[in-house]
Amino acid sequence: MSDTPASSFRPAARLGRIKPSPSTAAAARVRELKAAGRRILDLTVGEPDFDTPERIKEAAIAAIRAGETKYTPVNGTPRLRQAIRGSLQRTHGIEYSDAEITVGGGGKQVIFLALMATVDVGDDVLIPAPYWVSYPDMVRANEGTPVIVPTTAESGYKLTPEQLEAAITDRTTWLILNSPGNPSGAIYTAEELSALADVLRRHPGVSVLSDEIYSEISFTGSPAPSLAAVAPDLRHRVLVVSGVSKSYAMTGWRLGYAAGDSALIGAINTLQSQTSSCPSSISQAAAAAALQGPQDFIAESVPVYRARRDAAVAGLAAIDGVTPLVPDGAFYLYVDCAGLIGRSTPDDRILENDQDVTLYLLDHVGVAVIQGSAYGQSPFFRISFATDIDTITEAIDAIAEAVGALR
Ligand code: PMP
Repeated sequence: MSDTPASSFRPAARLGRIKPSPSTAAAARVRELKAAGRRILDLTVGEPDFDTPERIKEAAIAAIRAGETKYTPVNGTPRLRQAIRGSLQRTHGIEYSDAEITVGGGGKQVIFLALMATVDVGDDVLIPAPYWVSYPDMVRANEGTPVIVPTTAESGYKLTPEQLEAAITDRTTWLILNSPGNPSGAIYTAEELSALADVLRRHPGVSVLSDEIYSEISFTGSPAPSLAAVAPDLRHRVLVVSGVSKSYAMTGWRLGYAAGDSALIGAINTLQSQTSSCPSSISQAAAAAALQGPQDFIAESVPVYRARRDAAVAGLAAIDGVTPLVPDGAFYLYVDCAGLIGRSTPDDRILENDQDVTLYLLDHVGVAVIQGSAYGQSPFFRISFATDIDTITEAIDAIAEAVGALR
């Protein structure tokens, strides 16, 4: 008999509604295979391969030495809030007051708290697909109903005004917009946002959670436009969420922020005061330095991402059966693999869906990508190019080899 007592764990109903993040699960699988000695070309990562810039690390070390190691205000240090306001002013020309800003342990936590503060049983949240994996589960965890709106290649995988109009009901509380998008890399132009704003003006009960975490990783020559700037009259209905994880290679520092209506920000602060109290004081000092100092890291890293994107797109476009969607921002490629479905593997298995394609690439050539079903739109797979160019080119050659072996 085992000495371990039987678990008395009884999950709350809430837990039954959600599952662990598929991208975190994919990362765990890759780690397992690597630990077992297999060489894996890992294109699943959702974080920059760059190290946090030295200047930012130094600011954190200086904060520790200066004794900035205590609780901070719930909505962040005054210096960080000032830095966030400056950054939003610089990138979008929007002036926010101090009371319209809050911070949290990553954009992820801020989004969760915003939904927790506003979503009730029976509320619908519109989520265009393909979507970042966490949105539907975050809505479900807060007892709302995610309403998925599939997009098409014709619109560049962006929500159209007609689709928005058709999806809104009197239960709709939020629309989640993510530009540049994960996994599509699609950027809504100012004109496209303006057309969505026309619809939103007819529906005053709908707010917009604008996830702009990748806004500065843009290949168009300027940061992705924000709905809050394009439609200033709707600004009080737009919650801009962003953070330092992606733009400044600071994923592990866990620092995100939001800007929006001061009553909503106050509600998020109340929840934060009862959950984490505040994000790490040291990360806040680092984030303030990131947002305030010279922006050379972004200027240097974006062309690197761009060159990798171009190499990956060229390689994939030459493979029969897959069609990459050329991303305007972020560091992902969403690859249509409809042409592979129905083909047979060398060991006579038929690829029936994008999960099969993903498993085949992993088994056959050791390339790890994430299946489109995780992002609500199939059959696709997502490639991250937040990894070195040699790994990317080797992986794409390996994908070509694997596809070539299909019948
Ligand atoms: N939004 C999107 C679209 C993301 O891809 C991510 C990170 N994967 C986040 C938000 C959250 O980032 P963080 O919590 O590190 O700020």
